[in-house]
Amino acid sequence: MKLNNIPYGMHDVTDDDIDNIVKVLRSDYITQGQTVCNFERSLCLYTGAKYSTVVSSCTSALHIACLSLGLKKGDVLWTSPISFVASANCALYCGASVDFVDIDYDTGLMSISNLVSKLEVAEKEGRLPKIIIPVHFSGQSCDMKSIHSLGKKYGFKIIEDAAHALGAKYSNTSVGCCKYSDMTVFSFHPVKMITTGEGGAIMCNNNELDSYMKLLRSHGITRENKSFLSKVHHPKWYYEQIDLGFNYRMTDIQAALGISQIERLDRYVDVRGKIALLYDRAFANISDINPLKINVNCKSSYHLYVVRFTGKYSKLRDYLYEELNDRGILVNMHYIPIYRQPFYDTDLMLNEAERHYSSSISLPIFPLLNTSNQQRVINEILDIVNNV
Ligand SMILES: *Cc1c(COP(=O)(O)O)cnc(C)c1O
Repeated sequence: MKLNNIPYGMHDVTDDDIDNIVKVLRSDYITQGQTVCNFERSLCLYTGAKYSTVVSSCTSALHIACLSLGLKKGDVLWTSPISFVASANCALYCGASVDFVDIDYDTGLMSISNLVSKLEVAEKEGRLPKIIIPVHFSGQSCDMKSIHSLGKKYGFKIIEDAAHALGAKYSNTSVGCCKYSDMTVFSFHPVKMITTGEGGAIMCNNNELDSYMKLLRSHGITRENKSFLSKVHHPKWYYEQIDLGFNYRMTDIQAALGISQIERLDRYVDVRGKIALLYDRAFANISDINPLKINVNCKSSYHLYVVRFTGKYSKLRDYLYEELNDRGILVNMHYIPIYRQPFYDTDLMLNEAERHYSSSISLPIFPLLNTSNQQRVINEILDIVNNV
């Protein structure tokens, strides 16, 4: 496929996917039903987690994940500033406040040394976080063993934001298995690893938490006798609202697409890995164009391919961004540090997050990007930097 404009990311929907969606559309049930259950089972099989709750987006996943861990007014949640705003907004939905742990510049991931020193200070001041959300930026897992042992020491809960990292591996485990966390959330937005149009999921190994999230995604209403608060005998049609929930359901139409897509996930990770390798090679001899570093115990899913323009190219980022877009290479910037958003109204500045912000561009990477299109991206970048 020859693309006039090459986006930074794009979905891949096949004829098989469409056939699978149409089957649900022709059936007598289209909203959350058996196909959503089947998608949840596929996610458990893929990641190794015991339970999965599939919802309308990763944003709603983060919201009910925080609620189920008891996050409330007066509590504090910490996350990475280099993420999508949803990683932080979930705290505000619950009436809690947010703070940010600076990143490790080389990987773009939450820095363990910054986390340790921030925890030491917070303990002295008596304002330790209730939840920490490490973000597996670009598709590489954070150092979960360290975060997990700090969680044991300081008593915080952990929700992995793996919106980028479905299909990634960490220290011989699949991201999403929750070996080192309480929960992991995924996104099925069209640019992510697999898509359901819009959608998300929470993985966990705790039956009680999982049941509670399933209650919250559907108005807090139960039809199960054992969950009713009133213990008198009830007729068959009876239902009870026992908590304040939401309509965060995914449809069976979407879940059919998810099941169909997850079949190709390993191939997607493979193709993305090959694209990343070609970029790595193209920039290997240029000291001032630097890709993110991937740790040895990690296999990235390569949701994003982020490069930093440093040294003699350090003033070039904005020019490169505009010039590439003018040439039909629709690069992107991930992310503006969340604390810089006007809504957050803070004076916070974190050094490594700022360094990342001033130097990074996300290059096109997606399963349908073929080698000649990718070569065009590389040639345009080299042409621009060689002619300034
Ligand atoms: C995309 C994304 C989200 C939100 O996902 P939605 O499914 O669009 O709600 C959350 N966190 C990160 C890191 C993301 O990239």
